[in-house]
Amino acid sequence: MACNGKVEVVMVMETKRNPSIWKHFDLCLMIDNYEMARCKGCGKFMKATNNSTLKKYFDRHCPVTKAKKMKRVKDPGPVLQMFSVFDVSRLFS
Ligand SMILES: [Zn+2]
Repeated sequence: MACNGKVEVVMVMETKRNPSIWKHFDLCLMIDNYEMARCKGCGKFMKATNNSTLKKYFDRHCPVTKAKKMKRVKDPGPVLQMFSVFDVSRLFS
């Protein structure tokens, strides 16, 4: 039952749409016979009509994507600091 304005998925459909975007989304047929895109990362539903909106959501707003990007990026700051300290101590030894 749809309640509290929540959406209900009838089925997940195959899509031939832009795979670079749609690999991150499921194309869902909803109870009222319209299509929605569901983010595979966080499960948020978006309108399935506009690929650029979906891409923007995935690139910039999805909390799951953001978390993954954070893990991938290594902060080189402390390493660089260690090297510079090492170099300076050699100068004075
Ligand atoms: Zn998401």
